[in-house]
Amino acid sequence: MSYQSLLESTLAHTLNYIENLENAPVNATAPLPDLRQHLNHPLADDGMDATQVIDELVADVQGGILGTSGGRFFGWVVGGCMPAALAADWLTSTWDQPAALYASGPAIAVIEEVCGQWLKELLGLPQHASFALVTGCSMAHVTCLAAARNALLAKHNWDVERKGLNGAPPIRIMSNNQRHGSIARSVRLLGIGNDNVFDLSVNEQGHLDPEALRNELREHAGKPTIVLLQAGDINTGVFEPFDKLIPIAHDYGAWVHIDGAFGLWAAASPKYKHLLNGVEHANSWAVDGHKWLNVPYDCGYAFITDSRAHQAAMSHRASYLTHDAVARDQMDWTPEWSHRGRGVATYATIRQLGKRGVAELIERTCRYTQQLITGIGTLPGAEVMWEPIINQGLVRFLSSKPDATDADHDQFTDDVIARVVESGEAFFSGTTWQGRRCMRVSVCNWKTNETDVECAINAVQRVLKKR
Ligand SMILES: *Cc1c(COP(=O)(O)O)cnc(C)c1O
Repeated sequence: MSYQSLLESTLAHTLNYIENLENAPVNATAPLPDLRQHLNHPLADDGMDATQVIDELVADVQGGILGTSGGRFFGWVVGGCMPAALAADWLTSTWDQPAALYASGPAIAVIEEVCGQWLKELLGLPQHASFALVTGCSMAHVTCLAAARNALLAKHNWDVERKGLNGAPPIRIMSNNQRHGSIARSVRLLGIGNDNVFDLSVNEQGHLDPEALRNELREHAGKPTIVLLQAGDINTGVFEPFDKLIPIAHDYGAWVHIDGAFGLWAAASPKYKHLLNGVEHANSWAVDGHKWLNVPYDCGYAFITDSRAHQAAMSHRASYLTHDAVARDQMDWTPEWSHRGRGVATYATIRQLGKRGVAELIERTCRYTQQLITGIGTLPGAEVMWEPIINQGLVRFLSSKPDATDADHDQFTDDVIARVVESGEAFFSGTTWQGRRCMRVSVCNWKTNETDVECAINAVQRVLKKR
């Protein structure tokens, strides 16, 4: 087995993929039965040459790889992969350090320490906050809410790590009803239960109403409470008025958790950071690396002001492990034991971009979102549903049927999205917002440029002309 030929041919496959990305269809062109037929080789008794494994892998996935790492992908909230991060990720696998302890990967532990400091600085979070590098925002929620659970119940003299939740005072979560589904799953995993999540009313701007929050908190004063606030609504990118809401929550001793999966990154831009005024006073924040920062999957970050609660919720001591007194052992802060040295890709991304580069990435993608919304929104048959505040906007498409109903417009919107995707020119996804089907316009990729934006607008225009 020669590493030389294996890695050289992999490099050639990689370059071939990246160089063709600009012109290749951005959608999947292979149907499911084909992918199954190509990939589902009988489990062999004997292995095979590694270079051949990779060659066949590349051939077998043909048509089943979406153009998410290119500039014409605007579906969901999907980031790309910075060049330094791609290379760093290769090295991470080359080194293959179990990133649980300083002792099991000293440089990786220090890289994560540095990432924590840099990320807090970029995001404007308190430097004393503890942090964890996890697989994504979902696990960041779990990490943060586990710390919240510990801290809130400790105030009731309840050691949740020892006693569990049986017999504990119930924890309530209050939030606006637009929250992301990842919260519901964290709440399930942590045994808080979704019946203990309460929707509060939201005003026309999509913000949690301060009076509604105060009334609810007053009514349940003294009970362990988490207030969940959104930094970047999934459909609209709306931010809650943190400077108003967080002090109210704190007046009643509530823990404030921020879902900032992508939106928290607006804090890294001098132009947009005013949208996050006061967010630094929360108790915990969950944010993704693999979306707007353009670190490859899997990468998310949790930040927690109460480092004691964070550590109490996560740490573990075992006689066979070598804990370090001075260095930072990652497993004191993460839900995982062994895990990938995922700090390396974050470290490389931040170094490649610098503070200015991160700010430019945020501002550029916001500008392209606006251009897409304006360009698509002025096409005949299109209607702008949400003007972007950051990198998320919404449009819908109106059926030309005589006496078309909202159901017809909904159907037509879904048809347009499907046909744009089918064209392979650009990828968008749909959503239901305020009862209407809409096409989401979400720009997160560092690669997106003016040509991509033009190409996407033209693709929508061609579909609308054909109706
Ligand atoms: C994507 C997203 C999440 C979940 O993040 P993962 O990294 O996919 O686990 C949570 N909240 C919001 C607002 C999101 O956009």
